Amino acid sequence: MREDNCIFCKIANGDIPSKALYEDNEFKVILDLGPATKGHALILPKNHYANIYDLPDEAASKAMLLAKKMTIHMTDKLGCDGFNLVQNNGKAAGQTVFHFHLHLIPRYNDDGQTLGWKPLEPTQEELEEIKKVITE
Ligand code: AMP
Ligand code: ZN
Repeated sequence: MREDNCIFCKIANGDIPSKALYEDNEFKVILDLGPATKGHALILPKNHYANIYDLPDEAASKAMLLAKKMTIHMTDKLGCDGFNLVQNNGKAAGQTVFHFHLHLIPRYNDDGQTLGWKPLEPTQEELEEIKKVITE
């Protein structure tokens, strides 16, 4: 299940070289070419799914288990101080490559990066309203 002209399909299946950290039948983990920090990596399924909306349950489960293993292993090897798992879906959310990928971002006390947002200040009524939209 590959898509023509998808760079992550080509990388995950070995048609384009990458700095691979791990590989099995279903996934490849590579170093990001534009890393946020030292060791920033990407988990790529070998099958093409545009993002989480298309990702089958089994692949989602396996990706998260692999993320956990990689986080523990990389923290041990890199001696980082924390770890962000980031996963963007859709242009509005910052997705730029439309082949599902999970960012593994080692964090260091002095890395100077900020992955964050400006908190809104919703009223109790606004929180209640959005809760209703989601749950009803
Ligand atoms: P996103 O914004 O979540 O879609 O993330 C795309 C990520 O892919 C960015 O962090 C890029 O630096 C990274 N990237 C793009 N092309 C390549 C490539 N050929 N090899 C490794 N990483 C890449
Ligand atoms: Zn693809």
